[in-house]
Amino acid sequence: MQKILLIATGGTIASTKTEYGLAPGITSQELYDSVPEAGRFCTVDTVQLLNIDSTNVQPEQWILMAKTIEEHYDDYDGFVITHGTDTMAYTSSALSCLIQHPNKPIVLTGAQKPLLDPITDAKKNLLDALYFACQQRSGGVFVVFSGRAILGTRAKKLKTKSYAAFSSINYPEVALIDQGRIIQYVTFHHEEPVVFYHNLLPKVFLLKLIPGMDPGILDYIGEYYRAVVVESYGAGGLPFAHQRNFLDKLQTLKARGCHVVVATQAMLEGSDLGVYEVGRKAMAAYDVMQAYDMTIEAAVTKLMWLLGCSLSYDELRRRFYMPVAQDMLAGKL
Ligand code: ASP
Repeated sequence: MQKILLIATGGTIASTKTEYGLAPGITSQELYDSVPEAGRFCTVDTVQLLNIDSTNVQPEQWILMAKTIEEHYDDYDGFVITHGTDTMAYTSSALSCLIQHPNKPIVLTGAQKPLLDPITDAKKNLLDALYFACQQRSGGVFVVFSGRAILGTRAKKLKTKSYAAFSSINYPEVALIDQGRIIQYVTFHHEEPVVFYHNLLPKVFLLKLIPGMDPGILDYIGEYYRAVVVESYGAGGLPFAHQRNFLDKLQTLKARGCHVVVATQAMLEGSDLGVYEVGRKAMAAYDVMQAYDMTIEAAVTKLMWLLGCSLSYDELRRRFYMPVAQDMLAGKL
């Protein structure tokens, strides 16, 4: 029988009604007790690491999760983390950076409805996550939700209410899971041993461009942050026309050593800054990088991880384009 460590962190799956609204209250053991079927195919130990809404999950908690897995890595065949859905894609991306080429599955799951609701997706998701963790021969960080396994660097929450809340962005779904049967579409094989990292520097800003935005915002960002992901439009570019010239401001950011990554607000197919003048001008003169097919969550957390590695300016730029857990397929490799 496979041995699984169930790490509970809170979220809707563990929430109960309070006078202030839903808040996590159910324990890791209660979660596990709700799926007695799991006893047929695995043995599970439980850890109550946190019990918080995932809105309150921060980089410090990602480090704690990675550390917990590191401490118990040799003792278990796989790990299931129950987590709120709201920031689950950030957590799965961050854990993909902090735990690289694991040869064991690390599976995040949660629910849109609390475990104790009369109609809930909590039990199915938890059971699916345990099935997937037990039958998975390839290692990696995954999100299991509504019968699908999604690679951690590719997950995104698209729906606030429906059970099928997560999608796999610019990458195929890894598997379908139905009552213990798993149809695996993608497998992963890591030659290198697992590596754990212990630092993240959360000095990363995400700026969503809108028409009319004052480029002066970049002065402020440059003062307080070490990297900025600009969610621009379409294939990607920065405005330089009329009185709002973002390119002028890039020089200041570059002089401060602040990295700029241009991404796109279009969720699918990624950026290609080489297509338009608005993209090429930014790249040519100011060391602007681009996210290509990465999710915003993966780009932001990868920058936090790279900043935490204390690299030189040029080395960070080089490493940003080196794929981590298939986070980028279309980049310049
Ligand atoms: N607010 C909740 C959380 O992210 C939502 C959920 O779990 O579905 O913790």
